[in-house]
Amino acid sequence: MDKFDVIVVGAGVVGLAIAARLCKDYKKVLIIDKNARFGEETSSRNSEVIHAGIYYPKNSLKAQLCVEGKELLYRYCQERHIPHQRIGKLLVAHDDDEEAFLEKTLFTARTNGVHDLVWQSSAQLIKNEPELSASAALLSPSTGILDVHSYMQSLVFDIEKYGGMFVANTEMLSAIPTSDGFNIKLKSVNDYLSLSSRYLINSAGLHSTKLAGNIDTLSPNLIPKLYWCRGHYFSYSGKSPFKQLIYPIPEKEGLGIHASLDMGGGLKFGPDTQYIKELKYDVSEKLKNKFYVAIQKYFPNVEYKKLQPDYSGIRPKLQGEGEGFRDFFIQSKQQHDINGLVNLFGIDSPGLTSSLAIANYVAKVMLDD
Ligand SMILES: Cc1cc2nc3c(=O)[nH]c(=O)nc-3n(C[C@H](O)[C@H](O)[C@H](O)COP(=O)(O)OP(=O)(O)OC[C@H]3O[C@@H](n4cnc5c(N)ncnc54)[C@H](O)[C@@H]3O)c2cc1C
Repeated sequence: MDKFDVIVVGAGVVGLAIAARLCKDYKKVLIIDKNARFGEETSSRNSEVIHAGIYYPKNSLKAQLCVEGKELLYRYCQERHIPHQRIGKLLVAHDDDEEAFLEKTLFTARTNGVHDLVWQSSAQLIKNEPELSASAALLSPSTGILDVHSYMQSLVFDIEKYGGMFVANTEMLSAIPTSDGFNIKLKSVNDYLSLSSRYLINSAGLHSTKLAGNIDTLSPNLIPKLYWCRGHYFSYSGKSPFKQLIYPIPEKEGLGIHASLDMGGGLKFGPDTQYIKELKYDVSEKLKNKFYVAIQKYFPNVEYKKLQPDYSGIRPKLQGEGEGFRDFFIQSKQQHDINGLVNLFGIDSPGLTSSLAIANYVAKVMLDD
Protein backbone atom coordinates (compact mmCIF):
# COMPACT_ATOMS: atom_id res chain seq x y z
CA MET A 1 0.00 0.00 0.00
CA ASP A 2 1.39 3.44 -0.97
CA LYS A 3 2.21 5.53 2.08
CA PHE A 4 1.89 9.31 2.18
CA ASP A 5 2.72 11.88 4.83
CA VAL A 6 -0.38 13.93 4.01
CA ILE A 7 -3.53 13.40 1.95
CA VAL A 8 -5.64 16.48 1.33
CA VAL A 9 -9.17 15.72 0.13
CA GLY A 10 -10.61 18.48 -2.04
CA ALA A 11 -8.71 20.58 -4.57
CA GLY A 12 -10.60 23.83 -4.19
CA VAL A 13 -8.71 26.98 -3.42
CA VAL A 14 -8.44 26.11 0.28
CA GLY A 15 -7.30 22.49 -0.19
CA LEU A 16 -4.76 23.59 -2.82
CA ALA A 17 -3.38 26.33 -0.56
CA ILE A 18 -3.07 23.80 2.28
CA ALA A 19 -1.33 21.21 0.09
CA ALA A 20 1.09 23.82 -1.32
CA ARG A 21 1.93 24.96 2.24
CA LEU A 22 2.37 21.42 3.58
CA CYS A 23 4.71 20.44 0.72
CA LYS A 24 7.26 22.67 2.46
CA ASP A 25 7.09 20.62 5.69
CA TYR A 26 6.32 17.09 4.46
CA LYS A 27 7.88 14.96 1.71
CA LYS A 28 4.93 13.00 0.34
CA VAL A 29 1.84 15.17 -0.08
CA LEU A 30 -1.10 14.06 -2.23
CA ILE A 31 -4.16 16.16 -3.01
CA ILE A 32 -7.15 14.53 -4.67
CA ASP A 33 -10.41 15.73 -6.14
CA LYS A 34 -13.41 13.72 -7.25
CA ASN A 35 -13.96 16.02 -10.24
CA ALA A 36 -12.04 16.03 -13.52
CA ARG A 37 -10.20 19.27 -12.72
CA PHE A 38 -9.23 21.29 -9.64
CA GLY A 39 -11.54 23.99 -8.28
CA GLU A 40 -14.71 23.07 -10.16
CA GLU A 41 -17.09 23.73 -7.25
CA THR A 42 -17.34 26.77 -4.94
CA SER A 43 -13.85 27.99 -5.81
CA SER A 44 -14.86 28.78 -9.38
CA ARG A 45 -18.33 30.07 -8.47
CA ASN A 46 -17.79 33.13 -6.32
CA SER A 47 -17.30 36.90 -6.57
CA GLU A 48 -13.47 36.70 -6.89
CA VAL A 49 -13.16 39.49 -4.34
CA ILE A 50 -10.22 39.92 -1.97
CA HIS A 51 -12.09 41.05 1.13
CA ALA A 52 -10.68 43.57 3.60
CA GLY A 53 -12.03 41.83 6.74
CA ILE A 54 -14.20 44.66 7.99
CA TYR A 55 -17.42 43.00 9.20
CA TYR A 56 -16.47 39.84 11.05
CA PRO A 57 -16.71 39.77 14.86
CA LYS A 58 -13.52 40.56 16.79
CA ASN A 59 -11.29 37.54 17.49
CA SER A 60 -13.26 35.30 15.11
CA LEU A 61 -11.22 33.08 12.78
CA LYS A 62 -12.95 34.82 9.86
CA ALA A 63 -11.67 38.23 11.04
CA GLN A 64 -8.17 37.00 11.82
CA LEU A 65 -7.63 34.80 8.75
CA CYS A 66 -9.25 37.25 6.33
CA VAL A 67 -7.03 40.15 7.40
CA GLU A 68 -3.88 37.96 7.39
CA GLY A 69 -4.94 36.15 4.22
CA LYS A 70 -5.60 39.38 2.31
CA GLU A 71 -1.99 40.56 2.72
CA LEU A 72 -0.58 37.09 1.93
CA LEU A 73 -2.77 36.87 -1.16
CA TYR A 74 -1.79 40.29 -2.52
CA ARG A 75 1.88 39.43 -2.02
CA TYR A 76 1.42 36.01 -3.66
CA CYS A 77 -0.43 37.50 -6.64
CA GLN A 78 2.28 40.12 -7.10
CA GLU A 79 5.15 37.62 -6.90
CA ARG A 80 3.50 35.13 -9.27
CA HIS A 81 2.08 37.69 -11.70
CA ILE A 82 -1.48 36.53 -11.06
CA PRO A 83 -3.96 39.02 -12.50
CA HIS A 84 -5.34 41.08 -9.58
CA GLN A 85 -6.27 44.64 -8.82
CA ARG A 86 -6.60 46.62 -5.57
CA ILE A 87 -9.71 48.20 -7.02
CA GLY A 88 -11.40 49.37 -3.79
CA LYS A 89 -14.96 49.00 -2.57
CA LEU A 90 -17.70 51.40 -1.47
CA LEU A 91 -20.05 50.23 1.26
CA VAL A 92 -23.05 52.48 0.70
CA ALA A 93 -25.74 53.91 3.00
CA HIS A 94 -29.04 55.57 2.14
CA ASP A 95 -30.42 56.84 5.43
CA ASP A 96 -29.50 57.57 9.06
CA ASP A 97 -29.84 53.94 10.15
CA GLU A 98 -27.53 52.74 7.40
CA GLU A 99 -25.04 55.52 8.16
CA ALA A 100 -25.07 54.35 11.79
CA PHE A 101 -24.13 50.90 10.45
CA LEU A 102 -21.20 52.48 8.56
CA GLU A 103 -19.99 54.09 11.81
CA LYS A 104 -20.24 50.76 13.60
CA THR A 105 -18.33 49.11 10.74
CA LEU A 106 -15.54 51.69 11.07
CA PHE A 107 -15.16 50.56 14.67
CA THR A 108 -15.39 46.79 13.93
CA ALA A 109 -12.84 47.15 11.13
CA ARG A 110 -10.38 48.92 13.45
CA THR A 111 -10.73 46.21 16.09
CA ASN A 112 -9.93 43.68 13.33
CA GLY A 113 -6.79 45.63 12.40
CA VAL A 114 -8.22 47.33 9.30
CA HIS A 115 -7.38 51.02 9.61
CA ASP A 116 -7.66 52.25 6.04
CA LEU A 117 -11.44 52.86 5.72
CA VAL A 118 -12.34 56.35 4.55
CA TRP A 119 -15.70 58.08 5.06
CA GLN A 120 -17.16 59.46 1.80
CA SER A 121 -19.77 62.21 1.79
CA SER A 122 -22.51 62.29 -0.84
CA ALA A 123 -20.70 65.20 -2.55
CA GLN A 124 -17.51 63.11 -2.86
CA LEU A 125 -19.53 60.17 -4.16
CA ILE A 126 -21.26 62.28 -6.83
CA LYS A 127 -17.84 63.39 -8.03
CA ASN A 128 -16.17 59.95 -7.98
CA GLU A 129 -19.05 57.65 -8.91
CA PRO A 130 -21.70 59.82 -10.63
CA GLU A 131 -24.06 56.87 -11.33
CA LEU A 132 -24.18 55.90 -7.65
CA SER A 133 -27.06 56.88 -5.38
CA ALA A 134 -26.08 57.02 -1.69
CA SER A 135 -26.18 59.43 1.25
CA ALA A 136 -22.68 58.36 2.41
CA ALA A 137 -20.27 55.46 2.03
CA LEU A 138 -17.16 53.85 3.45
CA LEU A 139 -14.34 53.41 1.00
CA SER A 140 -12.26 50.28 1.57
CA PRO A 141 -9.10 50.81 -0.50
CA SER A 142 -7.64 47.39 0.35
CA THR A 143 -10.55 45.43 -1.17
CA GLY A 144 -9.61 43.96 -4.53
CA ILE A 145 -10.29 41.37 -7.21
CA LEU A 146 -8.27 38.52 -8.66
CA ASP A 147 -8.38 35.84 -11.31
CA VAL A 148 -9.10 32.79 -9.14
CA HIS A 149 -8.37 30.25 -11.87
CA SER A 150 -4.83 31.61 -12.34
CA TYR A 151 -4.37 31.59 -8.57
CA MET A 152 -5.40 27.92 -8.32
CA GLN A 153 -3.22 27.01 -11.30
CA SER A 154 -0.27 28.61 -9.58
CA LEU A 155 -0.94 26.65 -6.37
CA VAL A 156 -0.99 23.39 -8.38
CA PHE A 157 2.32 24.44 -9.93
CA ASP A 158 3.76 25.04 -6.42
CA ILE A 159 2.54 21.64 -5.22
CA GLU A 160 4.21 19.87 -8.12
CA LYS A 161 7.38 21.98 -7.86
CA TYR A 162 7.80 20.98 -4.21
CA GLY A 163 7.32 17.27 -4.99
CA GLY A 164 3.61 16.94 -4.14
CA MET A 165 0.98 15.45 -6.41
CA PHE A 166 -2.49 16.46 -7.58
CA VAL A 167 -4.73 13.65 -8.81
CA ALA A 168 -8.15 14.37 -10.33
CA ASN A 169 -11.13 12.01 -10.79
CA THR A 170 -10.37 10.45 -7.41
CA GLU A 171 -12.91 10.36 -4.64
CA MET A 172 -12.22 9.52 -1.03
CA LEU A 173 -14.79 6.99 0.15
CA SER A 174 -13.74 6.23 3.73
CA ALA A 175 -10.86 6.22 6.20
CA ILE A 176 -9.93 4.06 9.15
CA PRO A 177 -7.55 5.45 11.80
CA THR A 178 -4.52 3.20 12.50
CA SER A 179 -1.65 3.40 14.98
CA ASP A 180 0.33 5.69 12.65
CA GLY A 181 -2.28 7.47 10.55
CA PHE A 182 -5.10 6.30 8.31
CA ASN A 183 -5.98 3.63 5.79
CA ILE A 184 -7.88 5.48 3.13
CA LYS A 185 -10.18 3.98 0.53
CA LEU A 186 -10.42 5.81 -2.80
CA LYS A 187 -12.34 5.43 -6.02
CA SER A 188 -10.35 6.56 -9.04
CA VAL A 189 -12.43 6.50 -12.23
CA ASN A 190 -13.64 2.86 -12.06
CA ASP A 191 -10.91 1.46 -9.79
CA TYR A 192 -10.94 1.11 -6.03
CA LEU A 193 -7.64 1.52 -4.20
CA SER A 194 -6.28 1.92 -0.68
CA LEU A 195 -3.56 4.28 0.52
CA SER A 196 -2.15 5.07 3.89
CA SER A 197 -1.25 8.47 5.22
CA ARG A 198 0.01 9.94 8.48
CA TYR A 199 -2.27 13.00 8.14
CA LEU A 200 -5.70 13.37 6.57
CA ILE A 201 -7.04 16.84 5.76
CA ASN A 202 -10.74 17.03 4.93
CA SER A 203 -11.14 20.15 2.76
CA ALA A 204 -14.17 18.86 0.89
CA GLY A 205 -16.24 22.08 1.00
CA LEU A 206 -19.92 21.30 0.38
CA HIS A 207 -19.24 17.60 1.08
CA SER A 208 -17.05 18.01 4.17
CA THR A 209 -19.62 16.72 6.66
CA LYS A 210 -20.56 13.76 4.46
CA LEU A 211 -16.87 12.88 4.17
CA ALA A 212 -16.36 13.27 7.93
CA GLY A 213 -19.23 10.79 8.40
CA ASN A 214 -17.15 8.19 6.53
CA ILE A 215 -14.16 8.49 8.88
CA ASP A 216 -14.27 5.56 11.25
CA THR A 217 -14.29 6.41 14.99
CA LEU A 218 -15.16 10.09 14.42
CA SER A 219 -18.22 10.49 16.59
CA PRO A 220 -21.29 11.73 14.64
CA ASN A 221 -21.92 14.15 17.54
CA LEU A 222 -18.75 16.01 16.54
CA ILE A 223 -19.85 16.56 12.94
CA PRO A 224 -21.75 19.83 12.59
CA LYS A 225 -24.83 20.25 10.43
CA LEU A 226 -23.99 21.89 7.12
CA TYR A 227 -26.45 23.98 5.12
CA TRP A 228 -26.19 24.78 1.41
CA CYS A 229 -26.98 28.36 0.49
CA ARG A 230 -27.01 29.27 -3.19
CA GLY A 231 -26.11 32.72 -4.45
CA HIS A 232 -27.08 33.79 -7.98
CA TYR A 233 -25.37 36.31 -10.25
CA PHE A 234 -26.71 38.44 -13.09
CA SER A 235 -24.28 39.91 -15.62
CA TYR A 236 -24.74 43.46 -16.91
CA SER A 237 -23.94 44.10 -20.55
CA GLY A 238 -21.97 47.09 -21.72
CA LYS A 239 -19.40 49.25 -20.00
CA SER A 240 -19.47 49.32 -16.21
CA PRO A 241 -20.83 52.59 -14.79
CA PHE A 242 -18.64 52.05 -11.67
CA LYS A 243 -14.89 52.15 -11.15
CA GLN A 244 -15.05 50.37 -7.79
CA LEU A 245 -17.01 47.54 -6.22
CA ILE A 246 -20.33 48.72 -4.77
CA TYR A 247 -21.78 46.95 -1.72
CA PRO A 248 -25.09 47.65 0.03
CA ILE A 249 -25.39 47.20 3.81
CA PRO A 250 -24.94 43.45 4.51
CA GLU A 251 -27.91 41.19 5.17
CA LYS A 252 -28.06 38.51 7.83
CA GLU A 253 -27.09 35.69 5.47
CA GLY A 254 -24.80 37.41 2.97
CA LEU A 255 -23.22 40.65 1.89
CA GLY A 256 -26.23 41.72 -0.20
CA ILE A 257 -26.58 41.97 -3.99
CA HIS A 258 -23.44 43.91 -4.79
CA ALA A 259 -21.81 45.16 -7.98
CA SER A 260 -18.46 43.58 -8.70
CA LEU A 261 -16.07 43.74 -11.59
CA ASP A 262 -13.96 40.94 -12.97
CA MET A 263 -10.40 41.23 -14.26
CA GLY A 264 -11.74 41.72 -17.80
CA GLY A 265 -13.80 44.74 -16.68
CA GLY A 266 -17.13 42.84 -16.86
CA LEU A 267 -19.80 43.91 -14.37
CA LYS A 268 -21.95 41.44 -12.47
CA PHE A 269 -24.49 41.75 -9.68
CA GLY A 270 -24.99 39.26 -6.86
CA PRO A 271 -25.03 37.02 -5.00
CA ASP A 272 -28.37 36.77 -3.23
CA THR A 273 -29.09 33.97 -0.75
CA GLN A 274 -31.31 30.93 -1.16
CA TYR A 275 -31.09 27.90 1.13
CA ILE A 276 -31.37 24.71 -0.93
CA LYS A 277 -31.53 20.95 -0.33
CA GLU A 278 -30.09 19.76 -3.66
CA LEU A 279 -26.79 20.78 -5.27
CA LYS A 280 -28.13 22.48 -8.39
CA TYR A 281 -26.64 25.57 -9.98
CA ASP A 282 -29.68 26.92 -11.91
CA VAL A 283 -30.18 30.67 -12.20
CA SER A 284 -33.83 31.37 -12.83
CA GLU A 285 -34.86 34.29 -15.06
CA LYS A 286 -37.64 34.79 -12.49
CA LEU A 287 -35.09 36.29 -10.08
CA LYS A 288 -34.50 39.23 -12.40
CA ASN A 289 -37.11 41.46 -10.82
CA LYS A 290 -35.73 40.97 -7.33
CA PHE A 291 -32.24 41.85 -8.61
CA TYR A 292 -33.53 44.89 -10.50
CA VAL A 293 -35.25 46.30 -7.39
CA ALA A 294 -32.21 45.69 -5.14
CA ILE A 295 -29.77 47.24 -7.64
CA GLN A 296 -32.00 50.28 -8.28
CA LYS A 297 -31.47 51.34 -4.68
CA TYR A 298 -27.83 52.26 -5.35
CA PHE A 299 -27.88 52.39 -9.19
CA PRO A 300 -31.15 54.15 -10.17
CA ASN A 301 -30.30 54.16 -13.89
CA VAL A 302 -29.90 50.39 -14.08
CA GLU A 303 -31.41 49.10 -17.34
CA TYR A 304 -33.62 46.03 -16.96
CA LYS A 305 -32.78 44.65 -20.42
CA LYS A 306 -29.03 44.67 -19.72
CA LEU A 307 -29.39 42.19 -16.82
CA GLN A 308 -28.87 38.54 -17.81
CA PRO A 309 -28.89 35.39 -15.62
CA ASP A 310 -25.23 34.37 -15.32
CA TYR A 311 -24.01 31.74 -12.84
CA SER A 312 -24.46 30.66 -9.23
CA GLY A 313 -22.30 29.37 -6.38
CA ILE A 314 -23.23 27.44 -3.25
CA ARG A 315 -21.98 28.38 0.21
CA PRO A 316 -21.25 25.61 2.73
CA LYS A 317 -22.79 27.30 5.79
CA LEU A 318 -22.87 26.28 9.43
CA GLN A 319 -25.78 28.62 10.13
CA GLY A 320 -29.26 27.69 9.03
CA GLU A 321 -31.67 30.18 7.51
CA GLY A 322 -32.20 33.20 9.78
CA GLU A 323 -29.53 32.14 12.29
CA GLY A 324 -26.69 34.41 13.40
CA PHE A 325 -22.96 34.53 12.59
CA ARG A 326 -21.00 31.25 12.50
CA ASP A 327 -17.24 31.12 12.24
CA PHE A 328 -14.99 28.84 10.17
CA PHE A 329 -14.67 25.57 12.10
CA ILE A 330 -11.25 23.94 11.76
CA GLN A 331 -11.43 20.77 13.82
CA SER A 332 -8.26 18.99 14.94
CA LYS A 333 -7.14 16.49 17.58
CA GLN A 334 -7.99 18.88 20.41
CA GLN A 335 -11.67 18.62 19.46
CA HIS A 336 -12.00 15.03 18.21
CA ASP A 337 -9.02 13.22 19.77
CA ILE A 338 -8.00 11.47 16.53
CA ASN A 339 -4.29 11.83 15.68
CA GLY A 340 -3.55 13.41 12.32
CA LEU A 341 -7.08 14.42 11.28
CA VAL A 342 -8.04 18.00 10.36
CA ASN A 343 -11.61 18.73 9.23
CA LEU A 344 -12.51 22.08 7.68
CA PHE A 345 -16.21 22.89 8.06
CA GLY A 346 -18.19 25.96 7.00
CA ILE A 347 -15.49 27.52 4.81
CA ASP A 348 -17.81 30.00 3.14
CA SER A 349 -16.87 33.62 2.45
CA PRO A 350 -14.15 34.90 3.02
CA GLY A 351 -12.56 31.48 2.37
CA LEU A 352 -10.91 32.54 -0.88
CA THR A 353 -9.33 35.64 0.68
CA SER A 354 -8.29 33.64 3.75
CA SER A 355 -6.93 30.61 1.86
CA LEU A 356 -3.20 31.19 2.44
CA ALA A 357 -3.79 32.09 6.10
CA ILE A 358 -6.01 29.01 6.56
CA ALA A 359 -3.12 26.95 5.13
CA ASN A 360 -0.69 28.38 7.72
CA TYR A 361 -3.27 27.79 10.46
CA VAL A 362 -3.68 24.12 9.45
CA ALA A 363 0.12 23.64 9.30
CA LYS A 364 0.29 24.99 12.86
CA VAL A 365 -2.46 22.80 14.30
CA MET A 366 -0.77 19.77 12.71
CA LEU A 367 2.41 20.55 14.66
CA ASP A 368 0.41 20.45 17.90
CA ASP A 369 -0.97 17.03 16.95
C1 LIG B 1 -21.64 32.85 -4.13
C2 LIG B 1 -20.31 32.88 -3.42
C3 LIG B 1 -19.51 34.02 -3.43
C4 LIG B 1 -18.30 34.05 -2.75
N1 LIG B 1 -17.49 35.16 -2.87
C5 LIG B 1 -16.30 35.17 -2.24
C6 LIG B 1 -15.43 36.27 -2.39
O1 LIG B 1 -15.68 37.17 -3.18
N2 LIG B 1 -14.29 36.29 -1.67
C7 LIG B 1 -13.96 35.30 -0.80
O2 LIG B 1 -12.94 35.41 -0.13
N3 LIG B 1 -14.73 34.18 -0.70
C8 LIG B 1 -15.87 34.10 -1.41
N4 LIG B 1 -16.67 32.99 -1.33
C9 LIG B 1 -16.20 31.84 -0.56
C10 LIG B 1 -15.15 31.02 -1.31
O3 LIG B 1 -15.54 30.82 -2.66
C11 LIG B 1 -15.00 29.66 -0.60
O4 LIG B 1 -14.73 29.89 0.77
C12 LIG B 1 -13.86 28.84 -1.19
O5 LIG B 1 -13.95 28.72 -2.57
C13 LIG B 1 -13.90 27.46 -0.53
O6 LIG B 1 -12.89 26.68 -1.12
P1 LIG B 1 -12.76 25.17 -0.69
O7 LIG B 1 -11.49 24.69 -1.27
O8 LIG B 1 -12.95 25.04 0.80
O9 LIG B 1 -14.05 24.45 -1.30
P2 LIG B 1 -14.40 23.97 -2.80
O10 LIG B 1 -13.95 24.91 -3.82
O11 LIG B 1 -15.84 23.61 -2.77
O12 LIG B 1 -13.53 22.64 -2.96
C14 LIG B 1 -13.88 21.45 -2.32
C15 LIG B 1 -13.47 20.33 -3.25
O13 LIG B 1 -13.61 19.08 -2.57
C16 LIG B 1 -13.91 18.12 -3.55
N5 LIG B 1 -14.44 16.94 -2.86
C17 LIG B 1 -15.55 16.89 -2.08
N6 LIG B 1 -15.71 15.64 -1.59
C18 LIG B 1 -14.67 14.89 -2.05
C19 LIG B 1 -14.29 13.52 -1.91
N7 LIG B 1 -15.00 12.66 -1.14
N8 LIG B 1 -13.18 13.08 -2.54
C20 LIG B 1 -12.45 13.93 -3.31
N9 LIG B 1 -12.78 15.23 -3.51
C21 LIG B 1 -13.87 15.70 -2.88
C22 LIG B 1 -14.91 18.81 -4.46
O14 LIG B 1 -14.98 18.20 -5.71
C23 LIG B 1 -14.35 20.24 -4.49
O15 LIG B 1 -13.56 20.47 -5.65
C24 LIG B 1 -17.88 32.92 -2.01
C25 LIG B 1 -18.67 31.76 -2.01
C26 LIG B 1 -19.86 31.73 -2.73
C27 LIG B 1 -20.66 30.48 -2.78
